[in-house]
Amino acid sequence: MIQDNYQTIRQKISQYAADCNRDPDTIQLVAVSKKKESPLIQQVFDCGQRIFGENYLQEAAQKIPDLPPSAKWHFIGHLQSNKAKQAVSLFDVIETVDSLKLAKLIDKHANTLGKSTAILLQINIGREQQKAGVLPEEAESLLKQITSETKLQVLGLMVIPPFSDKPEVTRPFFRETRKLAEEFARKQLFTNNENVVLSMVMSADFHVAIEEGATHIRIGTALFGARDY
Ligand SMILES: *Cc1c(COP(=O)(O)O)cnc(C)c1O
Repeated sequence: MIQDNYQTIRQKISQYAADCNRDPDTIQLVAVSKKKESPLIQQVFDCGQRIFGENYLQEAAQKIPDLPPSAKWHFIGHLQSNKAKQAVSLFDVIETVDSLKLAKLIDKHANTLGKSTAILLQINIGREQQKAGVLPEEAESLLKQITSETKLQVLGLMVIPPFSDKPEVTRPFFRETRKLAEEFARKQLFTNNENVVLSMVMSADFHVAIEEGATHIRIGTALFGARDY
């Protein structure tokens, strides 16, 4: 049952947080609902979950109106510039911003729609050629440009680490992400430098992400079950 999955994940978050002396309330679950239908998402909402992550705009546009307005939506897929307007109208947080061009488009549409859109900077922390995200060494200058040239709320960083089912292989990527975030916060580059968002995880187990400072844990399969493509 999906309710059992939800409770298990909640308990793990509390346990992992306690294991490293973190307040579990500083860790948000992002329920990744891509490829899952509205009634199932509603069941998770009814368990108390409020933040949902979606990867595909067309799909999200169909499902978001089905859920209560108190649900918050994070866009975690690849965003094409010509879809920026739709993304702004649908989502509360766009986690995958990796260029000034995209940030400016999001800002423009947010202003037109009268929305205060929040974004995360996606970092290509594994420097993988096939992956989106700004390279770690280019992140600071991009962040400076975005904060000076847009009115977007830049909440923090998002990463998809190189795939591995071994948590210890993934740990250094999370650690490097946190170090970057700490450095940027010291330089006052985020909108709220006391409360920087770190959106992490993609399969394996998520205790390392919590140990390394994740504030947002993106989980799909362990909650909703495997996806059919
Ligand atoms: C699909 C997806 C997830 C969820 O992955 P699971 O392995 O199903 O938990 C997390 N983050 C991103 C960016 C995704 O695209």
